[in-house]
Amino acid sequence: MPIELEAIIGLEVHAQMNTKTKMFCGCDNDAFGKPPNTTVCEICMGHPGTLPVPNKEAVLKAIRASLALQCTVNRENHFDRKHYFYPDLPSGFQISQYDFPLASKGYLTFDIPPSPRVGGVGGEGLEKTCRITRLHMENDAGKLSHLGASTLCDYNRAGTPLMEIVTEPDLRSSDEAVRFAEELRRVLIAVNASEADMFKGMMRFDASISLREKGTQKLNPRSEIKNLNSFKALGRALAYEENRLRKLWEDDGGPLKGSITVGWMDDEGKTRILRSKETADDYRYFPEPDIPPLRLEEEMLENTQKTLPMLPREQRKAYIAMGLSPAEALTLMSQQGLRERFDAIHTETADPKLASGMILTQLIGFLNVHSKTMASAPSSEEFIALAKAEISGRISSHARKEVLEKSVMTGRAPMEIIEKEGMRQISDDSVLEDWVAKAIAANPDAIASFKKGKEAALGSVVGWVMKQTRGQANPGKVTELLKKKM
Ligand code: ZN
Ligand code: MN
Repeated sequence: MPIELEAIIGLEVHAQMNTKTKMFCGCDNDAFGKPPNTTVCEICMGHPGTLPVPNKEAVLKAIRASLALQCTVNRENHFDRKHYFYPDLPSGFQISQYDFPLASKGYLTFDIPPSPRVGGVGGEGLEKTCRITRLHMENDAGKLSHLGASTLCDYNRAGTPLMEIVTEPDLRSSDEAVRFAEELRRVLIAVNASEADMFKGMMRFDASISLREKGTQKLNPRSEIKNLNSFKALGRALAYEENRLRKLWEDDGGPLKGSITVGWMDDEGKTRILRSKETADDYRYFPEPDIPPLRLEEEMLENTQKTLPMLPREQRKAYIAMGLSPAEALTLMSQQGLRERFDAIHTETADPKLASGMILTQLIGFLNVHSKTMASAPSSEEFIALAKAEISGRISSHARKEVLEKSVMTGRAPMEIIEKEGMRQISDDSVLEDWVAKAIAANPDAIASFKKGKEAALGSVVGWVMKQTRGQANPGKVTELLKKKM
């Protein structure tokens, strides 16, 4: 009888925090689109004699993430120097946390939707929990670009605050690892600890995998896949490596003899061995002498806990209860800006349909069509004002859509567009009666078929009035007046 093997997978996740400044200096932490080496200073360049000072905003964000991951935040934790020599690290060491990390012993529960890939569990999905070993803070290194024989160094990223989140080996397949990582990303976004934009490399994974005979508890030597930058790469690399280890097991009659480190070659769809763990990393950790231990007040931790928003799994259920589809709920949670705006409109109007139309349909649609980012989206307050303008009858729903598109395209505030362009809804009966009379005269065919009993013909007459008034007529009133007139 063949032995049944199972995969044992654990992750190390690095996520950049969305702070204003870097981890230990005042440099701008948003280097996106800025020329190389323009957001740097002596501190993040690691010059001798400079003094790093921990960023309070980063510590608070890391605490929010720790609490959302149900970790114990260690009231006393400290920074250590982790030494290695590489051109992306000008000081020769990274400031990290080693034996006293910020937080430890948490967990994250995530969903595995029903799918034929998951053992054919029909209808019901599965719920899984992965334990979190620790969450610690550190600074990112610079970025190297290899061009032919030369290498270019950009230190804008050097000093960016990172959270490193390490899991227990609780994951059992590449699919589970990806589902976990996706849920983790939603949590970091929900607590506003990271933008976790995969395209900008804000979230990166190292994945460890080993095999064992099902039913045993032993942890065998593992293969660690370094530097995976997308969910797709994470899933493909783990699936490939699991297969490779299974074949090795068949050939050798057992697991790896020692742990190895491999790289994922995305173009080839293969892993490649970088080094075996015999030459174990020696980082010569020691306490960072320039930064005193962090002592966190119990009261501050309690207050931070109180400010945490609803977590994604709970929030997803709440959105679905409002009538959104599971896919729409996930879209809202993919960017903090979308969720904030949706929640703001919904809280103010108690109308999930309106909020979903404005955000999920129109805002996302206009951003895509005009190739804009969230930076071009009106603020929550501006969305509320726009929604209220429609509810009060000041503008029509047609005009609201037009105003929103113009606002996304030009960056002007919606209410300013309404003022300047005279986009008011016409609800005045006498004005509308004039338009109705004109519409009847201009659409004899449609009127005739309506009189013969074709209800739908009326729509085109109302449409004619809307077009002539540039969407400013109140369509409900126009319909009412038309019917009365005939
Ligand atoms: Zn700096
Ligand atoms: Mn790290």
